[in-house]
Parts: sequence; structure tokens; C-alpha cells
Amino acid sequence: MAEIIKGGCHCGNLALTFHASKPFEDMPIRACQCTFCRKHNVRATADPEGRLEIKVADQGKLSRYRMGHGITDFLVCRDCGVYVGATMEDPENNQILATCVVNTLELDPARIAAPAEAHYDEETPGSRLERRRKRWMKVEFG
Ligand SMILES: [Zn+2]
Repeated sequence: MAEIIKGGCHCGNLALTFHASKPFEDMPIRACQCTFCRKHNVRATADPEGRLEIKVADQGKLSRYRMGHGITDFLVCRDCGVYVGATMEDPENNQILATCVVNTLELDPARIAAPAEAHYDEETPGSRLERRRKRWMKVEFG
């Protein structure tokens, strides 16, 4: 059953609305092992059949951190320091894809599946986009 889960950064500058196509218990939880995600102990998920809304109260307080291939925006609130998710442009399909940091969602922790370690170091920018087209979700900025 579909559900809507709210979330966001700590100070409220970045507000998330996760539109899930299925119960959150069934969402795959990934613990990316890149150096950035390890520092945040990130658990992330995305629902390719769902969508994510991100409302930004003050764009000046949104950091779009880039590293590595430089094709992904890691969205971090400059005010409270919370990393809420990452986005990537898919220019061929004229869409932006996103993954969401599970820790920022208002959820009973018991509903979050155990994370699977994920290693993406070997990917090229092309294979990374291919994977994210299948696993990430559409995002709308408001
Ligand atoms: Zn904040």
C-alpha cells in the first residue's frame, strides 16, 4: 500500500515528502561505502515507482556538495549540517533522480530494514546513471 512519509533536515530548511508506492518495510536500504557516506553512516533508499519532493525554504542555505565524478549533488543544509539526499540529472530523459537518507525521515525505526552494504567504486559515470535509472526515484523541487 502506498504511503507518504515526511522528513527533512534538523532546522526545517530542507523539507522532504517521500511518496512510497509500497510499505516502507519493503524498501531496500543501502549503506553506501564511499568515504562521504561512511562519514555520515548513511542509510539510503529510493522507490523507482514513487517520487520525492524537496522543499527548500532558503536556497542560500542549501549546499550541493560534489565530489568524485562530479555528477551528483549531495544536498546538505548549511545551517544545521544534515545531509538529506542526493540528486543526479538524467538529461536524456529530462528528469532528475534522487535517493533519500532514511535517517531524515519521520519513521518508526522498527520499520527500517537492515541495510545492505553497497560498493559503487568501480562504476563509470555511464554505468552509475544506468543503475540510478533503475533504483533511484523522480524528484521535484518546491
Ligand atoms: Zn537545516
